[in-house]
Amino acid sequence: MREDNCIFCKIANGGIPSETIYEDNSFRVILDLGPASRGHALILPKQHYRDLCELDEETAKKVLPLAAKIGNAMKKSLGCAGFNVVQNNGEEAGQTVFHFHVHLIPRYEDGPVMV
Ligand code: 5GP
Ligand code: ZN
Repeated sequence: MREDNCIFCKIANGGIPSETIYEDNSFRVILDLGPASRGHALILPKQHYRDLCELDEETAKKVLPLAAKIGNAMKKSLGCAGFNVVQNNGEEAGQTVFHFHVHLIPRYEDGPVMV
């Protein structure tokens, strides 16, 4: 299901152009508009789920393997030394876009530990 006024539904399904670094039938991975580090990416399911608690089991099972795959690709292509996997649920927890997404934040040897 998609939500008409959800920006990540539009981006994930190609209705709004984005800097896409990966796409398959279930997900689009895009560069974050306000990056915490170079190459900061967001994993967006094409279906709308408000947060982790709404995620269906099939999508949930695919998310961490995809995070690992993209993280590995980041190490090779960006030369990052590691990466953070961050996922916010609820306004009080820092969620600002209410379409489930996972942050992949590359970290570099000469960069700060957290931004
Ligand atoms: P949250 O705070 O909900 O966990 O993360 C939302 C993220 O989405 C933020 O890092 C913000 O920079 C990013 N963001 C918000 N709107 C857009 C957009 O229209 N395009 C892209 N690429 N990123 C966005
Ligand atoms: Zn949505």
